[in-house]
Amino acid sequence: MTFDTVIMVDWSGGNDRGATPKKDAIWTCIGRTGASDAPLYHRNRQIAEAYITDALATELGQHRRTLIAFDLCFAYPNGFAKALIGTEDPLALWDWFAARVKDTPSENNRFSLAGQINAQFPGIGPFWGNGRPNHDVPHLPRKGLDRQGFALAEHRTTDSAAPGAFSPWQLAGAGAVGGQVIMGLPTLSRLRHHFGPSLSVWPFQTPDTPIVLAETYFSLLPTALLNDDAIRDAAQVSLYARAFSSLATDQWQTVFDIDPTPEGWVLGLGHAPLLQGAVMPALIPPPLRNDCFAMPQGAHWTPVDDALSHLRAHLAPVTATETVPLTQAVGRILAAPVTAMRSHPPYANAAVDGYAFAGPLPDGPHALPLHPGRAAAGQPFEGTVPPNHAIRILTGANIPDGTDTVVLQEDTTANTTHIALHGPLKRGANARKAGEDMTAGADVLPARRRLTPADLATLAACGTATVTVHKPLKVGVLSTGDELRAPGDAATDGQIYDANRAMLLADIARWGHIPVDLGIAPDNRAKLRRILDRAAAKCDAILTSGGASAGDEDHMSAHLQGTGTLALWRIAMKPGRPLALGLWQDTPVFGLPGNPVAAQVCALIFAHPALACLAGAEWPAPQGFQVPAAFIKSKKSGRREYLRARITDGAVQVFPSEGSGRVSGLSWATGLVELPDGAAQISLGTPVNYIPFASFDL
Ligand code: AMP
Ligand code: MG
Repeated sequence: MTFDTVIMVDWSGGNDRGATPKKDAIWTCIGRTGASDAPLYHRNRQIAEAYITDALATELGQHRRTLIAFDLCFAYPNGFAKALIGTEDPLALWDWFAARVKDTPSENNRFSLAGQINAQFPGIGPFWGNGRPNHDVPHLPRKGLDRQGFALAEHRTTDSAAPGAFSPWQLAGAGAVGGQVIMGLPTLSRLRHHFGPSLSVWPFQTPDTPIVLAETYFSLLPTALLNDDAIRDAAQVSLYARAFSSLATDQWQTVFDIDPTPEGWVLGLGHAPLLQGAVMPALIPPPLRNDCFAMPQGAHWTPVDDALSHLRAHLAPVTATETVPLTQAVGRILAAPVTAMRSHPPYANAAVDGYAFAGPLPDGPHALPLHPGRAAAGQPFEGTVPPNHAIRILTGANIPDGTDTVVLQEDTTANTTHIALHGPLKRGANARKAGEDMTAGADVLPARRRLTPADLATLAACGTATVTVHKPLKVGVLSTGDELRAPGDAATDGQIYDANRAMLLADIARWGHIPVDLGIAPDNRAKLRRILDRAAAKCDAILTSGGASAGDEDHMSAHLQGTGTLALWRIAMKPGRPLALGLWQDTPVFGLPGNPVAAQVCALIFAHPALACLAGAEWPAPQGFQVPAAFIKSKKSGRREYLRARITDGAVQVFPSEGSGRVSGLSWATGLVELPDGAAQISLGTPVNYIPFASFDL
């Protein structure tokens, strides 16, 4: 279900605005396949409605499926329609308004109609605001604070989730939207009747008709995306026409997928990254620079830390970005910071079960009369609690108007009319403040973060439904050597089984990349070249093992040298012979040593952070711990050493053999002991740096 055409409508509640295009007037814009026509200005509602009816008829006649979105509330907060017309059906409310709104280019009855509606509600309100200073409107208070007792929420649920949304009750003042809602619903009603079964209204009806009518909000996307040259309203309708018209079928399913509610829903809310991805071309990073592995070569061996700083300084993300739903985002790397769509909690609420009242309470015993009703999570108490009264409240319930403090149920005694409790209680006790956890508009998580399960909860709590992440890094693994056979194949005495490939492929999967098995390459240059050519075309990075030093059969280093981008890094560490680093057709290649122990240690120390960086993540520094040694060792200065290690009874043991071919020692170990570059004398109990494998994300 996709749309051939989208029409964005920026509505207005005022009178005729004259012939010259102006802001805060009615603007429309047509978008198709990610491009928009020029925005159109309409000086008044009569002209705009005629244009829209005509445009929709044209699209229908041309069999172009059309989405038309207005920036006005399609419904009011829960309970309003039921109280006014006896049904919660918002579409019936549209017809009710259509029958009562009087509208001409120079005059309309929105204020007096709002006053007449107020008269049918208890207390004062809900509508407020009067554009004319010298003309009082019966039953229409001038100030929001003058209202009370009408027993309706200020906002619909969807508006509470939209940062900066105004209440539909407010008819006057900068940014107010109440007038345009009253003056828009009759137009929506007429469009609906005009197009009959060809038109459905989302989310109240299934959006499977040739025309779908929806409400949206032109502040879903960062304002930086607006074209500054244009009148803001014109820039907005154009931007949203481009964004919505480039959504694909599955993306429409994502934005349409909400729990139906008679309060309606803002189309696109919670999906800013998805809409944004549609208007910004995916970020495709430039290839790495040819000299990125060119380590200044000297007579000396390069210390591990210098090698790491060089990689850190020269590597950059290489994958494009994409937008995914939150439920598929664990382990993915954020390509942009995430901003809170709404505050958490969105409204002050109770931290415990008990009774709410207006605090503080001084020291000593108190008895408070109980106000009827209760506030529960998801079932707010709609009225106002009178001064010096308490009301039953449950954990997670919004703090009712007239109260700000909660006493724990266990600290009270209650009968049917009163509760008794002991002061003192500070004002705000046992209540969570709105936004105390996260504030709408604030950055919640930074770019380059790999999302954890907990991050998904954090993002969901502040209203994020989709995130912009890097595409996963595809990492190829190639073993080299004529002596290698795959386990399961027959092997002569001169042959050994390929131990590295399974291990390195598994490392890569644990690190959140996509492992690509490149098999075994023989010690033959022509064949190796063909394998690397094919691998470079389908991988973002390649790990090879074996053939990395400068011996006769060390074709990997010879090859990379031939391409002119090789750096043979002589790193001052044990285990590990030189590391061959280079670009093969712009694809970074990490030539690891052949010995399984050396291959794994070099993978953990160098490939792990380097691949994280290429994938768009923060450079990960493994976290080690000082643990007393359960071994004795004397070490000369000049190179860093990594020993296979495990902790037993609070001390760290090392594998008895340091032989780099002893692969079983890697299984025995739970981490590495890192001995410093300088000389060291380790005796029993000497603290040494132990880095658990978990610190390497294994
Ligand atoms: P090379 O770096 O190719 O000289 O290999 C060093 C040592 O590691 C030799 O003993 C190789 O047989 C061994 N080796 C190389 N690749 C692997 C592998 N994939 N699995 C197990 N041992 C290997
Ligand atoms: Mg070899």
